[in-house]
Amino acid sequence: MHVTAIVPAAGGGARMAGGVPKQYLLLAGVPLLTRTLQALRAAECLDALILVVPPGHEERCRREILDPFGLSVDAMVSGGEDRQASVYAGLLHARAETDLFLVHDGARPFVAPAVVRAAVVAAAESGGAVVAVPVTDTIKVADRDGWLVETPERGRLWAAQTPQAFRADLFREAHAHALRDGFRATDDSALVERLGHPVRLVPGSSENIKITTTADLLLANQILTEREMTNSQRRKRR
Ligand code: C5P
Repeated sequence: MHVTAIVPAAGGGARMAGGVPKQYLLLAGVPLLTRTLQALRAAECLDALILVVPPGHEERCRREILDPFGLSVDAMVSGGEDRQASVYAGLLHARAETDLFLVHDGARPFVAPAVVRAAVVAAAESGGAVVAVPVTDTIKVADRDGWLVETPERGRLWAAQTPQAFRADLFREAHAHALRDGFRATDDSALVERLGHPVRLVPGSSENIKITTTADLLLANQILTEREMTNSQRRKRR
């Protein structure tokens, strides 16, 4: 089975304070996007990786994200105006032999290798799989004027993360339909769900955060510190 990963990393990072685009922000000395690519590689189940970067960033990405860390990708592609357009741009560069696509946000550096593998296995079995965690807040639906219209039962609500993985034919069809109908969504699964195809939930972890705001960066550094402490304790025990 040929698995192609698409990593959308073409966002501008508008919700982050400071001048450095978030892909290049250093987390304990290593750029955020480098960490994401290393985490995917550690899963050892991906045959090709397509990296989607902001237009004009190809050279900088090679220089800061890939080369110093001995990383390479199968294609580097310019992103579009929203996440969906960026994933689609990646999709167009995939090799015909791809059996399964796995999409993972460039801004989620803490994904566990076992979770990547679980998404691949679940998608191979059922056609589509989404990594998600149960929500802990009570979620409200509001109208455009700020009035609450609904409180969905929390026990059935999940926060979708990535990776999300899909059989290649289904994923290509879902993007083609969305493009034809002008349907836009903030994750990949929504495009597949609207075709009526079942998508399986794969339990994720609350550590698999998407680094979006400055507060997320603080949490990211804390996760790294804790991981480092666990690793050094393991080394001592050996
Ligand atoms: O916008 P959102 O926070 O959902 O972005 C999730 C991922 O999609 C990020 O890794 C971001 O870089 C990427 N993205 C993209 N192209 C865009 C907007 C976001 O590849 N135009």
